[in-house]
Amino acid sequence: MIWETFIGIEIHAELATKSKIFCSCSTEFGKAPNTNTCPVCIGLPGALPVLNEEVIQLALKAGLALNCKVNYINKMDRKNYFYPDLPRAYQISQFDLPILYDGYVEFEIEDTIERVNINRIHLEEDAGKLIHLEEHTCIDYNRGGVALIELVTEPELKSPKEAFEFVKTIKTIFEYVGVSDCKMEQGSLRFDANISVREKGQKELNTKVEIKNMNSFKEMQKALEKEEKRQIELYEFNEGDKIVQETRRWDSAKGRTVSMRGKEGVHDYRYFPEPDLRPIVISKKNVVDLKKEIPELPNEKLERLLTQFDLNKKETKIVVEDKKLALLFENTVKKGANPQKALNWIVGDLLRLIKTDGGDEDLEIDSSGLAELISIIESGDISLKAGREIFEEMFMKRKKPREIINRRGLIQINSEESLRIIVQKVMEANSKSVADYNAGKKQAITYLMGQVMKETKGQANPKMALQLLERIISNK
Ligand SMILES: [Zn+2]
Repeated sequence: MIWETFIGIEIHAELATKSKIFCSCSTEFGKAPNTNTCPVCIGLPGALPVLNEEVIQLALKAGLALNCKVNYINKMDRKNYFYPDLPRAYQISQFDLPILYDGYVEFEIEDTIERVNINRIHLEEDAGKLIHLEEHTCIDYNRGGVALIELVTEPELKSPKEAFEFVKTIKTIFEYVGVSDCKMEQGSLRFDANISVREKGQKELNTKVEIKNMNSFKEMQKALEKEEKRQIELYEFNEGDKIVQETRRWDSAKGRTVSMRGKEGVHDYRYFPEPDLRPIVISKKNVVDLKKEIPELPNEKLERLLTQFDLNKKETKIVVEDKKLALLFENTVKKGANPQKALNWIVGDLLRLIKTDGGDEDLEIDSSGLAELISIIESGDISLKAGREIFEEMFMKRKKPREIINRRGLIQINSEESLRIIVQKVMEANSKSVADYNAGKKQAITYLMGQVMKETKGQANPKMALQLLERIISNK
C-alpha cells in the first residue's frame, strides 16, 4: 500500500519585548524564581492587564514576513483551564479573531520549492514553569505573562523531513526580522506537531495525533518518523481504530511516542472575550510602515548573494540560515575579502570551532579580523596552515591576527636569499638524498622539503622552497 502523510505544526515563539504582555515586569531569562512578577502576572484578584503595544508591532512584523493578512480589528479572549502554571485558571489568548491569518512560507527541499499555508498567528501570554523535584513540584512565574505568538500551519507538510525544513525556515525568518531570539534551550521557541496518514487515493484525512515534548528540530523529525511508522503499521494490521485523537509525548530516551491524554476539544476551554481588555484596532498606516521595516529575508539574501558573487550554493545556504553568520560574511566581504574565501573560513574553520566549543553561537570572530587574516594569507606573509592556527586563537582569545603573528613569529619566509641559505644547509646535511635524487629517485625531494620545513619551523613559503630546491639540485 502507498501511504501519504499529513503534518501540521504549531510554533510558540516568545516575542523579544523587554517587558511582559500585560504588565511591566521584565522578561529577562535566568533570574531567581518569581522575581520577575507582580500582581498582574501572578493573577491576584483585581489586578488588571494593560496591553504592551510593542507586542502588537512584533507580531505584525512576524506575520507580514510570512505573507499573512491582518485582522485590523481583533481581540483577546479567555481560554479557561486549570493547571498550576496558570494562576488565574485562564490564559489570555485569541480565539475567533487572531491578529493575523492566511499566510504562507516557502522553503527549499531537495531543489524543489515547497509552499506551506499558515492558518493563523495569534497572541497569547506564556504560562509559568513547573520544576519537578524529588518530593515536591515548585513553580516559577517569571515566564508567566511573557508575550507569545502561536503560529498554526495547515496540515500540508508531507514528510517529517519537510517538517524539519519548515521549522528551520521559520526560526531563521524570525531571527532575521528580530521577532524572537529563538533560543530553543531557553524555551523561546517551542513546537508541537500533529500527524495523520492515509492510503493514497483516499479523499478525507484520517484521525490525527498530536505530539509534544520535542526539544530540537532533529528530535521532532525523529518523533514524527516514529509516529508515522506506528500509524501505518496499525492500519496495515487492520487496527486503525487504535489510532485515536490524542496527545502523545515524545520519549527521546526510549525513541517512541507515548500516550499522554485525550485531546481536548475547543469547547472544553469555554472561550469568551476578555472583558478587561479593549479590542485591538490596527491602522492601515501602521501596517504600511511596518512592511518597510521588514529586512531582506533569508531566501532573498541567498538569491542575491548567489547572483552577486560566484559562490558555492550549499555553503552559502549554511551561512544564510544563521543571521549572525550571514552578517559576519557580508561584513567581511565589505572589508575587501574575497567572497568565496570568506565563505570557506566561516563554513569550515569557524563552524568547526563553534561545534568544539559546545555549540555556543556567540561569535568571537569579528569581520575586520577575518578580512585582515584573509589578506595577510593572500599577501604570502603567512602560510595557510599558520593562518588556521591564528584563526583558532582569534576565536578562542579574541585577538587580532597581526598581534598573534608578531607574538608567535609566524611570518612566512618569502625571501629567496634566506631560503637559499637554508636549502643549501639541508642539502649539505643530506647528501645521500641529494645523490638519490640525482640518480633518478625523484621522491627523495619530498624528504628534503620536509627537512627545509623542519629547519624553518614550518615558516618557509613551500612553493618557493620547492622551486629553489629543484633548481639548486639540478644545477649540481
Ligand atoms: Zn508582572
